Amino acid sequence: MSARGNLFIVSAPSGAGKSSLIAALLQDKPADMQVSVSHTTRAPRPGETNGQHYHFVSVDQFKGLIAEGAFFEWAEVFGNYYGTSRHAVEDTLARGIDVFLDIDWQGAQQVRKLMPEAIGVFILPPSKTELERRLTGRGQDSAEVIASRMAKAVSEMSHYNEYDYVIVNDDFDSALADLRAIIRAARLSCAGQARTHSDMLNDLLAE
Ligand code: 5GP
Repeated sequence: MSARGNLFIVSAPSGAGKSSLIAALLQDKPADMQVSVSHTTRAPRPGETNGQHYHFVSVDQFKGLIAEGAFFEWAEVFGNYYGTSRHAVEDTLARGIDVFLDIDWQGAQQVRKLMPEAIGVFILPPSKTELERRLTGRGQDSAEVIASRMAKAVSEMSHYNEYDYVIVNDDFDSALADLRAIIRAARLSCAGQARTHSDMLNDLLAE
């Protein structure tokens, strides 16, 4: 096996700033990192583009993809289906590129079983009040949706201790620096270096 990318799982309750952190991380289009674009059956929000934010599909199409074994993991979240393409993740990792999965705790549990070396990062908001303020401030969802997400946030957050790293997103720039530090540390870990530099290590250690 030659240079292989690291797999990062990033989870958070809705409104903790996960998507913004990942977007900031990838803003300059680094050649060594990509976010996996999931399939979902939920409707696009204003400003979301098919193929960029999600692959938007019907329930029938999604079920067809499940039957084909196209998903690395999939879950029902807030009444909609979400899934990660197996092919896209495996191809990208095989090209030596780190992959970020922006997925919920259910998907994270499936990925950890399939790839125990995946690095889990959980992002928490600094308080419930701040979380509610952010969800309301977004202005994209109805009050009913926000109330339901606040209720579900507590259950999502209860899984924080299943992850390797936890970031409290109080100040955005500090949280982004924390995320970059985690990526760097993961890349420098013995297991990470062994994955990335397998050819070099084979060469160095050959008698
Ligand atoms: P949203 O609809 O707000 O974009 O996402 C709702 C939740 O679904 C978020 O917690 C997000 O991380 C999660 N999610 C997005 N894509 C996937 C996926 O492919 N698999 C799983 N398990 N969860 C996902």
